[in-house]
Amino acid sequence: MDLIFEKSRPGRRASDIPANDVPVTPLAEVIGEGLIREDIDLPEVSELDLVRHYTALARRNFGVDLGFYPLGSCTMKYNPKITEEAAKLPGFTGLHPYAPEAFGQGNLALMDELRRMLCELFGMADFTLQPSAGAQGELTGIMICRKYFEKKGEKRSRILIPDAAHGTNPASGALCGFETVTIPSSSEGGVDLTVLESAMTEDVAGLMLTNPNTLGFFEKNIADVARIIHGRGGLLYCDGANANAFLGHTRPGDIGFDLIQLNLHKTFSTPHGGGGPGSGPVGVGAKLVPFLPVPRIIKVENRYTLAEDYPDTIGRVKAFYGNFNVMVKAYTYLRLLGATGLKQTSDMAVLNANYIKARLAPYFDLPYDRTCMHECVFSGNGQVQDHSVHTLDMAKRLLDYGVHPPTIYFPLIVPEAIMIEPTETESKETLDAFCDAMIAIAKEAEEDPERVKGAPYTTPVKRLDDVLAARKPNVCWTGK
Ligand SMILES: *Cc1c(COP(=O)(O)O)cnc(C)c1O
Repeated sequence: MDLIFEKSRPGRRASDIPANDVPVTPLAEVIGEGLIREDIDLPEVSELDLVRHYTALARRNFGVDLGFYPLGSCTMKYNPKITEEAAKLPGFTGLHPYAPEAFGQGNLALMDELRRMLCELFGMADFTLQPSAGAQGELTGIMICRKYFEKKGEKRSRILIPDAAHGTNPASGALCGFETVTIPSSSEGGVDLTVLESAMTEDVAGLMLTNPNTLGFFEKNIADVARIIHGRGGLLYCDGANANAFLGHTRPGDIGFDLIQLNLHKTFSTPHGGGGPGSGPVGVGAKLVPFLPVPRIIKVENRYTLAEDYPDTIGRVKAFYGNFNVMVKAYTYLRLLGATGLKQTSDMAVLNANYIKARLAPYFDLPYDRTCMHECVFSGNGQVQDHSVHTLDMAKRLLDYGVHPPTIYFPLIVPEAIMIEPTETESKETLDAFCDAMIAIAKEAEEDPERVKGAPYTTPVKRLDDVLAARKPNVCWTGK
């Protein structure tokens, strides 16, 4: 396909500007000579060229509106379009961030209600909605932990993180000045209690635990984990990116977690993958409330206001009050489903993942064979050993079946990992079509491995050199 620059013809245009009826001021007088750019070489195309170019590009894109997208750890579920409609309402989009609070009472009320719903769902005393991603939520949470120990006058320099954790966990710990200590997973894919027991010293701030973890397992020994951490004065942090697996079934606050970050863009109806926007609220138990970021939304005499006066706060973590439109979608989704509906989404997410696990188990290695939560993790090791076909090859072959591949090579502790998260919104027919494709590929790997290794065959671009693309990205047109 030609670049838009290659479609350019001198003088062709997509719009007409009405004749000028005001005095002309030379641009140089307005912005200064130095800022004037000559010969910027913009494409000149007709309206139809323009429309066709971008429509053709859009049709080459793949998204959850087009097909199955079982990207484990990222929850690429279908998000009801009504939440988008709600987020588009002019009262939400039109409010200027600097408008006086009196003009934004409805928006503040929405945020306050969302905050209170999250407290109820996750068993926390309070939430901040400010952080704009899961990773920023983690950072905020660990800053809160650091401040908590500072206030108590305790010096704790290390933080424990299981080896199955998302890379953002150690990054957040390190950014807050903690030395991160890796806790290896047990043979069952959970926290190894013996290792935890010896690693949890009075010098350790706590444990960052993803629950369910990235292998898709709920931590069986959570009560013991909490006892060990709390017994030495530490804090138990929950990476709640996988919260869609337990909504309405359990509350992190009830099972020993002191704080949690959520990913509204994974669990509560905001599509993601294009780099945002996201929202990563942080919930805390009562003893951590004083350290929450400011401003906080409070209600004084029936008026909502943004309050700043909290002496122990970690400060502000985001301009204004976070990504509001993501909050509108989460709020709408929560109200739409209600308590019963939320519980049902988790039921279905777990059922679907276990269905796929059962259907694919005869064909792929299953390093941890347990009932899973919202996602299941296979290994392509068998295919590598028997036919020199790698997980990457099979993922590329899936593209020929019109399926977005699952997450691959994560979690890092599973060699040749294939991490599948079907989500609650897919029908049995879609799940079966996916399983049929995976099984066909497993058979092809056996009978015609070279065919799998050459995939994909039907996509606009074939096998790309990932390393070259990352190291030497070609993002500018140098033609003409
Ligand atoms: C996605 C994810 C994160 C990071 O969240 P972002 O919103 O992408 O910053 C952290 N932990 C886990 C387990 C995740 O899946």
